[in-house]
Amino acid sequence: MLRHFDEGDLISVLTTQPLDRALDYKAPEGGCFEGAFVEVPLGPRKVLGVVWGEGEGGYDLSKVRSVIRVLDAVPMRDEMKQFLIRAADYTLTPMPAMLRLATRSPGLGDPPAMRVIYRRGTVDEPDRWTPARQKVVAVLEDFGGLAFTLGELAEMAGVSTSVVKGLVKQGVVAEEESPRDLPYPKLDPGRAKVALTAEQESAASTLRDGVANREYGTALLKGVTGSGKTEVYLEAVAACLEAGRQALVLLPEIALTAEFLTRVEDRFGARPAEWHSGVTMTERRRAWKMVAEGGAELVVGARSALFLPYQDLGLIVVDEEHDTSYKQEDGVLYNARDMAVLRASICKARVVLASATPSLESWANADAGKYTRLTLTARFGEAVMPEMHAIDMRSEQLPSNRWISETLAGAVRHRLGEGEQSLLFLNRRGYAPVTICRACGHQIGCDHCDARMVEHRFQKRLMCHQCGETKPMPEKCPSCEAEDRLAPVGPGVERLAEEVAALFPDARAAILSSDLFGSARALKAQIEAIAAGEADIIIGTQIVAKGHNFPLLTLVGVIDADLGLQGSDLRAAERTFQLMRQVAGRAGRAEKSGVALMQTYQPEHPVIRAILSGEEEAFWKAEAREREQAGVPPFGRMAGIVLSSPDVQQVFDFGKALTRKTAPLDRIGAQLFGPAAAPIARIRGRHRVRLLVKAEKTAPVQRALAEWLGQFRVPTNLRVSVDIDPQSFY
Ligand code: ADP
Ligand code: ZN
Repeated sequence: MLRHFDEGDLISVLTTQPLDRALDYKAPEGGCFEGAFVEVPLGPRKVLGVVWGEGEGGYDLSKVRSVIRVLDAVPMRDEMKQFLIRAADYTLTPMPAMLRLATRSPGLGDPPAMRVIYRRGTVDEPDRWTPARQKVVAVLEDFGGLAFTLGELAEMAGVSTSVVKGLVKQGVVAEEESPRDLPYPKLDPGRAKVALTAEQESAASTLRDGVANREYGTALLKGVTGSGKTEVYLEAVAACLEAGRQALVLLPEIALTAEFLTRVEDRFGARPAEWHSGVTMTERRRAWKMVAEGGAELVVGARSALFLPYQDLGLIVVDEEHDTSYKQEDGVLYNARDMAVLRASICKARVVLASATPSLESWANADAGKYTRLTLTARFGEAVMPEMHAIDMRSEQLPSNRWISETLAGAVRHRLGEGEQSLLFLNRRGYAPVTICRACGHQIGCDHCDARMVEHRFQKRLMCHQCGETKPMPEKCPSCEAEDRLAPVGPGVERLAEEVAALFPDARAAILSSDLFGSARALKAQIEAIAAGEADIIIGTQIVAKGHNFPLLTLVGVIDADLGLQGSDLRAAERTFQLMRQVAGRAGRAEKSGVALMQTYQPEHPVIRAILSGEEEAFWKAEAREREQAGVPPFGRMAGIVLSSPDVQQVFDFGKALTRKTAPLDRIGAQLFGPAAAPIARIRGRHRVRLLVKAEKTAPVQRALAEWLGQFRVPTNLRVSVDIDPQSFY
């Protein structure tokens, strides 16, 4: 039970304001519970906070101000508080920033908003029955006690709203005010069960038993695309609903939610709560409230859904757990996969990490016995993994500014003849990654970042993929002012589409790239149109790799399999392996088998060979051995420190200062590398310097980092960001 404070008691309130501690206030009239969301005065302003505990006191109590009001929201549960504290410790994030993540609901404390609804009134018969009036009453009676908005009712009855209004006047239909934040419809875990295959059933029953235990545990559910991972984890969701606990399914991409919601509706008879940036304010508010009050049984959402105020969370599914978008890369730097495990361990919930190509972290945890390993080996139905072959680009002799080899073009032509789809995969948005002046060699860069501008021809603009800045394509070279000498270098998907149009003039081509669609809905419509066969050739970036079903697709051509292997990222091999297997998995999902062709200049490269052979275990083992020898994650700990400032001198000076007082790091045997200019040395006008801390897996890195950084006074212009377990090193 949460503790209660009486009016006038000294209490400590954590606010969302960037202060380094909680502040003391007096409990308001009527008192308040620990965990209550409150509004408190801070200087001249009113700010949001949470009653954190007893006040500290030790000063003139007559100066302490009172809480203004207690908000109409369920108080924060102790388990949520523990989660925020431990997540803050892990990620070295100040508590106010953590609290902001947990209070991202518009109008959190407002009284319930009202709306007008319609239901069956007390008067049985109107003065006169018309067919339209009969239809309205029939709808109301068919749906029992359900209430409708005016628009919904008129639409379902197929009449105009004036018919409904006419019935209201006579008392046949009642018009009432009702709270907007209504509970979500009940889900029926027993509805539309599918008959699982033996392998699926064995995985599902392990998950069901786990949920029934009400103890923490994590399972890694691994299976090729189409093997039925979703069917299997929906069984765990069903078990969780049966146990009366709430479930959360995290998806890496908003574009995937629509398809998933439909599946939930088919399986459980209603739609769950949704939580991501594409959801309206009203729905967000409703979701936040209903999750807290138990009026939402299942939430489907993005990583921030982990910070919703669940009443009793029993299951967290992280689908496509290897996906890099689970790592939040600005603001609070956290990995939703790791935070899901933390949250579940606090509230005795189960975690399911689902993937066709798990991250090496999860693979190693399963290998060490920390996670239960569940594997689906077969694709459901007839579909089998596509055959994979390399196209050795050294012997293809492509003319310059062409990227589709004759071998690949031949394969596409064959599919066109059969009426089947082909996918050409290139992980580069826009028209060309570089624009160069042929007169002076100047490459057009961003004014604010140390990055080249990418031409986006559809939008007729150059765009910086770091800061999002755009500018029109210049007529003259910005450096030497030569006219008409600017030329694109290298391909993006838009340029590849031109080549496709030239090679296959009669084929219908469609580009799938995240920047070409204004909204998730537009993207979804395009995906559905393609799945229904409205394109012969799909040209796509990595968004095609994520879970969409294209039943007519039988050929995948990877334009540049070597792309991800360049650069010095420690996860380059892992990422390439995952992405190539995911993309290849798009082919042959229905009854027809598929082929994946990978264009490469280095077919002997161990990663390329591992992808082609499909010997996953061998690949993971080799990769794990290498990382273990190097002492890098997941076998060692790393933390990236990025310093940034508009002042280049200041940022290097501070970086050097950091290397002079390293005793706290030395004590835990950690190594410090840097400072060095970051690979992208300037973003949005701020100069960037990186340092890297490396330590043994068991070393208490966070504490040492906090102590080390705590020794320095950070200049006002300078920003220090600490990234525990960094995923990117730009
Ligand atoms: P994954 O999540 O591993 O990609 P899905 O769960 O989406 O796989 O399954 C792929 C397709 O096969 C889906 O259309 C799914 O409904 C179907 N499917 C999988 N298992 C079964 C089953 N046991 N019975 C009926 N359909 C199934
Ligand atoms: Zn920029």
